[in-house]
Amino acid sequence: MSLNELYREVILDHYRAPRHHDHLADPSGTAEGKNPLCGDEVTIEIALDGDVISDIGAIGVGCSISQASASMMSEAVSGKSRAEVEELVRKFKVMMAIEDSDEEIVNPDRPGEALGDLEALQGVRKFPVRIKCADLPWITLQQALEEAE
Ligand code: ZN
Repeated sequence: MSLNELYREVILDHYRAPRHHDHLADPSGTAEGKNPLCGDEVTIEIALDGDVISDIGAIGVGCSISQASASMMSEAVSGKSRAEVEELVRKFKVMMAIEDSDEEIVNPDRPGEALGDLEALQGVRKFPVRIKCADLPWITLQQALEEAE
């Protein structure tokens, strides 16, 4: 199986069986995001325990990239502190070529190697229109965190 096939499998798995796809009973912060170009919608709800995301809901409709990204994001940030989440958001944006980085990338073919399932989204970089789909849940997460302050 090629790396691209593997990425496709991971994305489809998250799309078909999205993680944390439930509303929270008592969220500390909620945000809704829309990507009108593609018709994607996501709602992110977070529960904070002090500084830590103790629970998250990621609910939405839209293309496989946006919904898989929401599912992967929800897994990746669950149990993490605000500072850890900010660092993860930054790494994700560097991987997706949304932000530049001066850091030396160990393996240029796999800039997202250390990001677990999220790495599967790096193939989307080749399709600039779809980068907005992948980024939508992350922008929405940041809004939910701001609202929870
Ligand atoms: Zn989309």
